[in-house]
Amino acid sequence: MPCTVLIVEDNELNQKLFADVLDARGYDTLRTAEGVAAFDLARAHRPDLIVMDIQLPTVSGLEVIRWLKDAADLAAIPILAVTAFAMRGDAERIYEAGAEAYMPKPVILSAFMDQVEALIGGKARRPDPI
Ligand code: MN
Repeated sequence: MPCTVLIVEDNELNQKLFADVLDARGYDTLRTAEGVAAFDLARAHRPDLIVMDIQLPTVSGLEVIRWLKDAADLAAIPILAVTAFAMRGDAERIYEAGAEAYMPKPVILSAFMDQVEALIGGKARRPDPI
């Protein structure tokens, strides 16, 4: 079974970009633009990785990271946080909340995929099409 990555991103273009690049590499994706829905999807599907935007419309991505890391059954899922308007102290706040990795936007896709694969650690993906 291929790995599943949950993409939490309210910017439609970024959401599609992340989904397309992950799909092209053979990962299944789930997507949402909202933090409460992200938590519910994580619980329902137990993804192998969560890509978490920090600037979200209702609940901050930082808060959702804390919920996930406080949930015994979800805490082990690695989280790659992404944030626009990177400011001094962002990385510290993000790591303090419990994320395993952090990338400022605009995300460079090759670096993004390197980070994803480092976090997923060689778990299964769909075979390359012939
Ligand atoms: Mn956003």
